Amino acid sequence: MDRKQFISLTGLTGFSTLAGGLFNRCSNPVDIENQNGPARIRFEKYKLDLWHDWTITRGTATYKENVFVYYERDGITGVGEAGHMTAAGQDADQTILALGKLIPLYKESPPFQYFDLPEKVNQIMPGPVPAKAALDMALMDWIGKKINLPLYKYFGLNPGSNIKTSFSIGRDTPEIMKQKVKEAAPYHILKIKLTNQNDEEVVQTIRSVTDKPIRVDINEGWTDKEEALRKIEWMAQNGVELIEQPMPVQMLDETAWLKDRSPIPIVADEAVHISSDVVHISEAYDGINIKLMKSGGLVEAYKMCILARVLGLDIMIGCMTESSVAISAAVQLQPFARWLDLDGNLLVRNDPFHGAEFEDGHWN
Ligand code: MG
Repeated sequence: MDRKQFISLTGLTGFSTLAGGLFNRCSNPVDIENQNGPARIRFEKYKLDLWHDWTITRGTATYKENVFVYYERDGITGVGEAGHMTAAGQDADQTILALGKLIPLYKESPPFQYFDLPEKVNQIMPGPVPAKAALDMALMDWIGKKINLPLYKYFGLNPGSNIKTSFSIGRDTPEIMKQKVKEAAPYHILKIKLTNQNDEEVVQTIRSVTDKPIRVDINEGWTDKEEALRKIEWMAQNGVELIEQPMPVQMLDETAWLKDRSPIPIVADEAVHISSDVVHISEAYDGINIKLMKSGGLVEAYKMCILARVLGLDIMIGCMTESSVAISAAVQLQPFARWLDLDGNLLVRNDPFHGAEFEDGHWN
């Protein structure tokens, strides 16, 4: 059994075919030209119960509602998932509406001619839409299962060394944050979100109870480049190893100024969704955070990885709150990454799938 198989299904459907790794079926090669008829595609909402309440500006959530998509053809089922950025107003109902518009394209497209699908999808529906990611993931899982090969192998990637993932510590009172750091003992790197209020204090609170590397995500919160540089220099001296999206997306020149002076890498998140964004921002950042829910799936994310390599940008693979389906899909691109931020399914109590295995801070 290969360690990086995409997804093994349990629970939801009772279907137990695995994505490949077995090389004993050469006598039955896949005919990629002759796939029978249109695919059958179905979907369902699913409530992912969280271990800890998730506090956002509009209130506290105890669960996340994601949508699973099933792509069936030739007796094989691929699974995809849509997770939602609630702060951007996304939800499961919107995903279902979007699926209604996009499913006909996926139903009729020959499965092995997937390369141009993201472009066609973006013509129908521009912008970051989680339904795109769910369909793409389901198709790519189907392909992995059809050819009996994990996708990272299909993409020609060397699994290489296992990179440790960061684990996010939610913003809270100092005492609760310290408690969360203790509970995060299995994780080797911590990530915290700063809001431009008491930033150094928050880092100091975390630093007072751990010497683990810290990554900070500003979510566009800093608008004064001189002040931002002072904060970054202070943070670098306090064991912060990278800064994610320090300034608003449109402040590209100021971000480039900051990048040229920062002692630690500056990584784009909100500024980069799809491959065309990578070229646009490449001079202003040291790296990019690629998330399947932003890119619209694995095919576009793979293109982004290649483009980032060509442009000399480092790669972070990130996620939303997601089950093992989307996390295992993202793990397929791990060989490209310098940094991993894949903790989405570790926040979930009732993950209905099994996929990549988490062990000693990294994904197998
Ligand atoms: Mg971010």
